[in-house]
Amino acid sequence: MLNFYDFTIERLQEYLTQNGFKSFNADQIYKWVYEKKIINFEMMTNISKPLKEFLKENFLLEDLEVHTVQESSDGTVKFLFKLGDGSLIESVLMTHDYGKSICVTSQVGCNMGCAFCASGLIKKARDLKIHELVRQVTSVENHLKIKITHVVVMGTGEPFDNYDNVIDFIKVINYKNGLQIGSRHITVSTCGIVPKILEYANEPIKTNLAISLHAANDELRNRLMPINRAFPLSEIIDACKEYFKISGRRVTFEYILLHGVNDSIQHANELSDLIRGINAYVNLIPYNPVNEFRFKKTDSQKASDFYAQLIKRGINATLRREQGSDIDAACGQLRYKKENGI
Ligand code: SAH
Repeated sequence: MLNFYDFTIERLQEYLTQNGFKSFNADQIYKWVYEKKIINFEMMTNISKPLKEFLKENFLLEDLEVHTVQESSDGTVKFLFKLGDGSLIESVLMTHDYGKSICVTSQVGCNMGCAFCASGLIKKARDLKIHELVRQVTSVENHLKIKITHVVVMGTGEPFDNYDNVIDFIKVINYKNGLQIGSRHITVSTCGIVPKILEYANEPIKTNLAISLHAANDELRNRLMPINRAFPLSEIIDACKEYFKISGRRVTFEYILLHGVNDSIQHANELSDLIRGINAYVNLIPYNPVNEFRFKKTDSQKASDFYAQLIKRGINATLRREQGSDIDAACGQLRYKKENGI
């Protein structure tokens, strides 16, 4: 059996025409499944009987299995899903004044080994398939009976290490007869895999790019993020300039403030010098403590000083508020907990 949610519209059109059906049938089916949330082929009234039979014989339309749902006091909801092979993955739903956003996981575990991030404590077992990416969105929508308006690929895993599936996932959720999530409402976050940044710049669907920077010199970034040894800062900066030239979209740099590590005024100056002249803004993130690591959060006064220094130096910046930390759903805290017996 095939999984319906693995199919971009192009792939579905191709598959249907190869089997003697019409290309426009693909749009009809997409509308039923994604717009009307009808997951029973029998109920698709404008579909012919032979096509219904063909769909029933060939396609699965199941939700992901919800293993656990946890709700934070601030309304953030963390889902633990159990995949077909028993793997567990997490997605986080956040409510903002502008809509509902979901943080999607791209891999089972992560190999990037960032020194501060809980997701890397579990080594990568495999990439997520397209349907497993899509179904995180639709399963959360179905479970909570809501419409998701924003998607960030910032959960466990490195999306650019699962590039093709992430791009197809974007095609599915962005499609006009699909979930219709606008390209400007979709963000992919990478630790800085340079060749993929350039490839991403050339994708026809212009979604947002976030780069996890966290340090503005190579010596420190090598220690925090091993990927920096393969793609040092100078290469990332060049890729960002190229990205802007090709896509016309500004980049977001994410910068976790780590107490005594990267949060001094000198660090703010170094960061300003590094990204001067790039069309970008910096998202300053409060560190969410992870038991296994010794890093500490920068206190709010120091975080404000760091922020003010960036502004003084002419850098666009925001200081992100934290969500979901009481249920370990905040950035860098995603993983399933062994002590929960899972
Ligand atoms: N691999 C991708 C996406 C996952 S990380 C990437 O590196 O961008 C998503 C964001 O969470 C990144 O900016 C990451 O650096 C941040 N993050 C990781 N651990 C964190 C922690 N303990 N506290 C706060 N943010 C964290």
